[in-house]
Amino acid sequence: MNKCAMLDVNGVIIQNNCNDPKGAYYLLRPEDWVVLEGASEAHKLLHKNKYKIFWVTSQNSITEGLISEGKITDMLHCMKDMFEIYCGYWQVVSEIAIVTNDIVGDDSDPEIRRLKAEVKNDAMRKLIEKYDIDVSQSFGVGDRMSDIDSFEQVALKYKYQILTPYGDKLTQKADASYPDLLSCVKDHLTNLQKQSS
Ligand SMILES: [Mg+2]
Repeated sequence: MNKCAMLDVNGVIIQNNCNDPKGAYYLLRPEDWVVLEGASEAHKLLHKNKYKIFWVTSQNSITEGLISEGKITDMLHCMKDMFEIYCGYWQVVSEIAIVTNDIVGDDSDPEIRRLKAEVKNDAMRKLIEKYDIDVSQSFGVGDRMSDIDSFEQVALKYKYQILTPYGDKLTQKADASYPDLLSCVKDHLTNLQKQSS
């Protein structure tokens, strides 16, 4: 079996909400996509430690009809190529899952939130099955409470939250929180090493 790192994209790999404190900042053009410091180095470390890396992202801009799924896919694949050039290997990112849904309703309704979360959880479950992932050796990183909920739903052993000025407050369900992906990955690997020694 394999182990994986399930990574949210906005707020974990790329900067999010840099202009809008309400968090409704859309990434519509390549110049909007600012890779966070240390994100590519974190990928290199994960690859070196034999993690399958998945990017799982719901881009609200698609749901709201502001941009096509094809354009977002192209931008994500360009970023993946960039990371892989940096890492010096191809297939560092095993798969990009762009989660879309046609659920109509406001996010303030808990039932709507639950239904949307279920679509995302299903996408993660498919990756877990397809890549023969051992969830007891795997972890997820996200910046929203909903990300952490999803990691719990699909039974990833470790759930980490990146705390940004624009993201959610820390949820108690997170095993730990970090300012960025690189410090998260380094700490995770160090802790595993300590456990095994
Ligand atoms: Mg996010």
